[in-house]
Amino acid sequence: AIDLPVLTRDILKSDDHLVQSFADLNALKQQGARTAIVSAKGTMVTDSDGNELIDGIGGLWCVNVGHGRREIIDAIRDQLETLDFYSTFYTFTHPAAAALAQKLGQLAPGNLNKVYFGNSGSVANDSAVRILQHYYRRLGRPEKRLVLSRNGAYHGSTFLAIAMTTPEYSKGWDKADNMVHHLKKPHYWREGDGMSEAEFLDMLMEDMRASIERIGAENIACFIAEPIMGAGGVIVPPEGYHRRAGDICRAYDIKFVADEVVTAFGRLGHFFASQDVFGTTPDIINTAKGLTSGYQPLSATIMSDEIHEVISGPDGVFLHGMTYSGHPAASAAALANIALMEQEQIPERVRTTGKLFEKTLKALEDIEIVGEVRGSHFMAGIEFVSDKQSKALFPEAMNIGMKVARRAQARGLIARPLGHILILSPTLILSEAEIARIGDILRESILDVM
Ligand code: PLP
Repeated sequence: AIDLPVLTRDILKSDDHLVQSFADLNALKQQGARTAIVSAKGTMVTDSDGNELIDGIGGLWCVNVGHGRREIIDAIRDQLETLDFYSTFYTFTHPAAAALAQKLGQLAPGNLNKVYFGNSGSVANDSAVRILQHYYRRLGRPEKRLVLSRNGAYHGSTFLAIAMTTPEYSKGWDKADNMVHHLKKPHYWREGDGMSEAEFLDMLMEDMRASIERIGAENIACFIAEPIMGAGGVIVPPEGYHRRAGDICRAYDIKFVADEVVTAFGRLGHFFASQDVFGTTPDIINTAKGLTSGYQPLSATIMSDEIHEVISGPDGVFLHGMTYSGHPAASAAALANIALMEQEQIPERVRTTGKLFEKTLKALEDIEIVGEVRGSHFMAGIEFVSDKQSKALFPEAMNIGMKVARRAQARGLIARPLGHILILSPTLILSEAEIARIGDILRESILDVM
């Protein structure tokens, strides 16, 4: 037998080696204010003090089918017992990755049939850009390599993904910013003053068109966009935004990359949101998170037959790969996760329960400091204001989102603070009673801090 560390709560007391993500590391050092989650089941998690909490953020927008699902755990174990690891490099492949690629080709819209696996959303987004640069090089247009993104976007933390992300996420940090141009943020409530929503949309499209003209379409490989911005504050664009952006892309021969890392796999009531919710078929869809419901790290860059045809033409090797692309255990987890979603009709269920969630949270707008409750289905953001009329924000130092999140946690709900916004992205299996409970906890917690 091997000697494994015993994972009791005691180990947390000496936890000064783990470097946390997107955290104030100095504050952690001073206060040690971590929340250790030690177990999870269904819609709930348990912290190291034994408190049971509703997982209002689904791990991190990812545990779509809920925690502790036996079917996925068994599929991972069975796969590891049969084949623990083999890569998808060179001529090697294995049944789990091949079956999953086939399944994703069936689920994805239009002619998006070819799948490149990675191990995170960041890697999926980087891969899409590398693939498209390679595509245009092969077409004899090597200068077509830049990226159009948007203020407010979140596309990940690798060197290219963070450059595509909104600049607030990399303040003072170096990045590949010579590669990326950011268009305006499509947030009507905050940015659309004095305009109708239709005029605001026209203005956004004009910004896109003018930016392309200025940079030169001959220099731009792709436009990347989340159907609904997530970590940028849950921004639902004006009706018709993605369709019109897609039309502009086609007119200028710029590829449309949909970052569906969050919006796919049921969160908006469909396996993919691009076509079914927003009426547009991109050239590439990137996804991760809900693909395995977070049980294993896996991402997919799903590309059109047309792109694949070019990158698989004669004379040239596809010089791109991650050791764990299409890892057997991750692929098995995704196959079981998708089968569960189909069997339990989770996306269909979300079309009802997600709407109830939306309505329950929207009711919080009657509170004086709630400026806007926005989102769709199981993606929600609550923006706090010090003055409803002017939409003025609380001073940053007040940490309003964090204060409400702390109160919510004390009442049994994990929500994610993001400055003056509170984010909810729960598991997709919430009962109606749990949805009502979340609404009650949020109301009490917001009233607490007023
Ligand atoms: N894209 C979107 C829309 C995301 O929300 C995230 C992560 O939150 C990413 C990309 C990056 O994914 P990962 O953290 O798996 O690299």
